[in-house]
Amino acid sequence: HTVSETNETISAVITALGEGAVGIIRISGTEAAAIGDKLFRSASGKRLTEHTPHLLVYGHVVDEENSKIDEVLAVYMQGPHSYTAEDVVEIQSHGGLQSLKTILGLTYKMGARPAEPGEFTKRAFLNGRIDLIQAEAVMDIIKSRSEASLKMAVRQQDGQLSKKIKGLRRNLLDIVVNLEAVIDYPEEDIEEITFNTVSEGMEKVKQELEYLLKHAHTGKILREGLQTVIVGRPNVGKSSLLNALLSEERAIVSEYAGTTRDVIEEQLLLGSVPLVLVDTAGIRQTEDYVEKIGVARSKERLDKAELAVVVLDGSQPLNEEDEEILNAVAGKPCVIIVNKGDRPQVNDLTALQKRFGKDRVLLLSAKTGGGLEQFTAWLQSYVYGSEHAISGGAYVQNTRHENLLREALLSVEEAIRAAASMLPYDCLVIDLHKAIDAMGLITGDTLQDEIINEIFSKFCVGK
Ligand code: GDP
Ligand code: ZN
Repeated sequence: HTVSETNETISAVITALGEGAVGIIRISGTEAAAIGDKLFRSASGKRLTEHTPHLLVYGHVVDEENSKIDEVLAVYMQGPHSYTAEDVVEIQSHGGLQSLKTILGLTYKMGARPAEPGEFTKRAFLNGRIDLIQAEAVMDIIKSRSEASLKMAVRQQDGQLSKKIKGLRRNLLDIVVNLEAVIDYPEEDIEEITFNTVSEGMEKVKQELEYLLKHAHTGKILREGLQTVIVGRPNVGKSSLLNALLSEERAIVSEYAGTTRDVIEEQLLLGSVPLVLVDTAGIRQTEDYVEKIGVARSKERLDKAELAVVVLDGSQPLNEEDEEILNAVAGKPCVIIVNKGDRPQVNDLTALQKRFGKDRVLLLSAKTGGGLEQFTAWLQSYVYGSEHAISGGAYVQNTRHENLLREALLSVEEAIRAAASMLPYDCLVIDLHKAIDAMGLITGDTLQDEIINEIFSKFCVGK
């Protein structure tokens, strides 16, 4: 990709605009140091850039007439040892929004221009300080909805996934180098050795790609929440279960109106699983939302949901309506909650377990809270799998990454087939190059400008 050609100096407020006690303005680019020296007066009278870089300096921001605007802390970070890898000056102001605006206005007058959304991070990427996965992780941290998702975004910033994908890409490049050597200098004995190494190498990369893709779903759940719907006939205890879950959760992450005005998403974190309970009428407003949307609508919801929680009343025999709902979820990702476990049970649990799987039928009581922990535990292992502790492993969580990995996998499989059918090595090389390019598009090693711009335009200003 092209390295940043622009010499323009940019500035923006990088802290959340609002009532925060401290606001920070960042200036980045070739003029940053000069602008910093012009608008900042240290208490000692020394220029900002005469102080040790990276140390906070106390002083004032002054305007062109040299009158004091605000009391601030300023820091000069000489490139490449800064967020953008360019010269950076940051001004910490305590003076609220008005003061931030005035200081920002001064930076514009002194030659900076407003930073575009994501431009600081884009420069960090273009200057080679971070790779694309890390840059996208910055965006994910900003949008992060749950604790687990935040943890993962941070880990990606550490470059876990980049390292993994770069490693696999390098493996493929090595294989191509091997193959090209044979194409250029065909000798029978070399060819024999190469064929085995190449086959093994490709197989290994294929397995690792499959592994990453297998767990991509987990990454998406972490980021977006597991789309969940609670279904069941009236009075089985759906609202009670929902309330019990809401009081069980560690934090209500957020609650906001979706794209249409009356769609409300209830988000909750159960154990370490972020759930999104979607309802068209609003969970809080209408107590008995599920029955209001009716069985037909429930079925529609079921198709879109990633998990259906079916609630049955264990103290009553299953009726036709229950059966209809059970039939609707058969074969779909679901868990069957036999509720009112605190009362005498009249249903045959083993029959249900035979039908849906032993671990998918849970007896609990929304009233007493008994069995809720088992539900959380079930959910946890459903999402993460038993061997996958949340603390381990890098997950692919970005749809763009997932699609490219899938592309790469297809090409590697193609190459493996070509090798098995003894096709000429040139065919393998073409397939492998496709995979290498796809993986390069993930880390940004092979990336066109439009894609870069597209990705960074989704950032907010100041990032
Ligand atoms: P929904 O119509 O499916 O939402 O059911 P509700 O949550 O409104 O509950 C219907 C009735 O069942 C209410 O009187 C609840 O108090 C009662 N109920 C719900 N869960 C339990 C439970 O676990 N045990 C007992 N004994 N009663 C429950
Ligand atoms: Zn209800």
